[in-house]
Amino acid sequence: MNAFTNLGLSESLNQPLEQLGYSQATEIQQLAIPPIIARRDILASAQTGSGKTAAFVLPLLDRLQQKKPAKGRPIRVLCLAPTRELAQQIDANVASYIGELPLRHAVIYGGVPIDQQIRKIGNGVDFLIATPGRLLDLLTQKKLDLSQIETLVLDEADRMLDQGFQDQIQQILNHLPKQRQNLLFSATFNAKITSFTDGLLHNPVIVQSQRLNKAADAVKLIIYEVEQNEKPDIIYYLLANNKQQCLVFARTRRNANLADTYLRDKGLSCAAIHSDKSQQQRTQTLQKFKNGEIQILIATDIAARGLDIKQLPLVINYDIPRHAEDYVHRIGRTGRAGMQGVAISLMGGDERGNVAAIEKLIQQKIFIAAIPYIDGENKFEYDNEIIASAGSHIQALKDEKSSRAAKRKKYTKPNK
Ligand code: AMP
Repeated sequence: MNAFTNLGLSESLNQPLEQLGYSQATEIQQLAIPPIIARRDILASAQTGSGKTAAFVLPLLDRLQQKKPAKGRPIRVLCLAPTRELAQQIDANVASYIGELPLRHAVIYGGVPIDQQIRKIGNGVDFLIATPGRLLDLLTQKKLDLSQIETLVLDEADRMLDQGFQDQIQQILNHLPKQRQNLLFSATFNAKITSFTDGLLHNPVIVQSQRLNKAADAVKLIIYEVEQNEKPDIIYYLLANNKQQCLVFARTRRNANLADTYLRDKGLSCAAIHSDKSQQQRTQTLQKFKNGEIQILIATDIAARGLDIKQLPLVINYDIPRHAEDYVHRIGRTGRAGMQGVAISLMGGDERGNVAAIEKLIQQKIFIAAIPYIDGENKFEYDNEIIASAGSHIQALKDEKSSRAAKRKKYTKPNK
């Protein structure tokens, strides 16, 4: 018996889990796996990086492998995800958990030729992962039969609703059998999602592994107050002496390109992904970043979900996100699976309101730190300063008013 068989999973999953080095089930896995095995509907809130993908994929694969597929190999599990990157990520996880099991999986998303996806599905698939738009395309073209779906998973459901997928999801639901299991995962919850789930879930088990809308404890949150036009310079100084990998989030494609060009011109190893890039470019760039061939990845919020990069130590918000919920997702890219992380946000004068909304959402004040330069030396002492300033976080918050005023130091460009 191991941690996973104790939860009711069969031993045939042990080999891939051992290979992946999963010795303990994470909290969300402990809470969600037994009711999923019992075919209950689930409404789950889990922090990004908590292991939530395995929490639903493992029990579903286990069930699939216990029952031989019917003739024609119909799709039995459908998992919807809001972004192509997240869909790919889930698919990669499914592949690694399947190991040698005789199960088939496929992922479909837009921005790439549809024919190959049609062929793959035509060969018979047990577990399908899809973004709503492309899935609906295929349904409209009658290339897909979802009438045998046993379980529907909605991952990052809040984001799907935010992205306006509600109507498309409704249309997809019309193609599914009424009798099925529904699993809904969301990192953040709001009124919109509650009203959506009311009609969808039947007597769901509520699984809540952490407080809702909370920043992971393992991530140190820091703000630098800057002028908007100083941001390219500051980000350069933050990253020039830092050899670790960093994910930078920009609010717009324009800002992502601007930061990318600026950093590359200065010789840093950097690339940008956003919706103006082709799907092929996006996939390739992401892969290079994951392989460590690129040090800095600059992304719009399209990449805020689904990116699972081992040991990403640092996230920088070049802009404060417009939606407070996006902040939780962005910083969830660091401090994953037991690692520590740092999330730095550059706050321009007109972004204070956005920060206030974020602090309200996460019920936490974010430490405003002085930009750590060592005067005269033109050297940025990155690690120690940041960790030290984050360490004094609690103390600073005790006297928040005066600390904010005192720490609001102006950035001055160091002498070249
Ligand atoms: P997720 O929250 O699903 O994106 O997972 C975050 C990371 O945790 C991924 O890299 C998973 O491979 C990893 N992970 C998931 N479950 C476990 C586990 N039980 N033990 C160790 N790592 C895990």
